[in-house]
Amino acid sequence: MPQVQPKVKLIRYTPAPEELVALAAKLCYSASDLSDLDEGIAQKDQSKYLNRLMEMGHLSPVEHASFTFGIEGVSRSLLAQITRHRIASFSVQSQRYVALGDDETGFDYIVPPAIDALGEEDAAEYRRQMDTINEWYQAWRKKLGTGEKSNEDARFVLPNASATRMLVTMNARELQHFLSLRCCSRAQWEIRAVAWQMLALAHEAAPALFENAGPGCLRGPCPEGKKCCGKAAEVRERAQALKHQN
Ligand SMILES: Cc1cc2nc3c(=O)[nH]c(=O)nc-3n(C[C@H](O)[C@H](O)[C@H](O)COP(=O)(O)OP(=O)(O)OC[C@H]3O[C@@H](n4cnc5c(N)ncnc54)[C@H](O)[C@@H]3O)c2cc1C
Repeated sequence: MPQVQPKVKLIRYTPAPEELVALAAKLCYSASDLSDLDEGIAQKDQSKYLNRLMEMGHLSPVEHASFTFGIEGVSRSLLAQITRHRIASFSVQSQRYVALGDDETGFDYIVPPAIDALGEEDAAEYRRQMDTINEWYQAWRKKLGTGEKSNEDARFVLPNASATRMLVTMNARELQHFLSLRCCSRAQWEIRAVAWQMLALAHEAAPALFENAGPGCLRGPCPEGKKCCGKAAEVRERAQALKHQN
């Protein structure tokens, strides 16, 4: 049965997202009407303007730019966490319409790195457990008939480890908020790994919008208080490296 790794792709985003945010802000602060609102926007570097806007907390213009990510090779456990973000939109591969693997290949699943790190014997035990669950799952599918009716009930024996794929759309304000919570070392390892990939892609597409995005410790002292991981310097270095490489 295949062990899979998280993969994140930026599928689509609002064209010229930074120009659009600058334009929305200009509408708030200038007397321009719609016919001349666009004037000078594309010609000028908007990064300082956007930075000032975000520092002021004037964030409604930031909501006009949207980013759609494809995410796969992640667990149902990640799905439970990411879908808590209510301002985002999700489309998730169905476990009713899509049967997961068969007797031979089984379902895709995620192996937590901490289990891999225990060594080959324990990792093999985990894989055997997944094989056993696959036997249960396939047996229920056969017993319940074929198609969505059987998939929808057979899936009850699948583990949190089983892999899923989804599209996630967030506006830039929600994405900044998500990255702030989920790039933080306190976030669980899998969603954190995905969030850092999303940060890299979002920053590549719109560097000014995401220059200060990431965990709270990039923008000041760690906001986690007693729960602080104590690795702010390391985290800042990682973010710098990621943003410089774009
Ligand atoms: C480290 C960590 C540990 C966690 N542990 C747990 C846990 O043990 N149990 C658990 O249940 N959850 C847990 N969560 C999930 C957490 O409680 C939030 O549900 C999740 O992070 C989504 O955050 P959010 O509500 O800020 O984001 P979103 O839903 O994306 O909302 C964005 C923002 O919009 C505003 N907003 C959205 N909806 C409302 C609303 N209805 N009313 C008022 N304002 C709103 C808020 O300002 C919110 O911050 C954890 C999260 C993290 C990062």
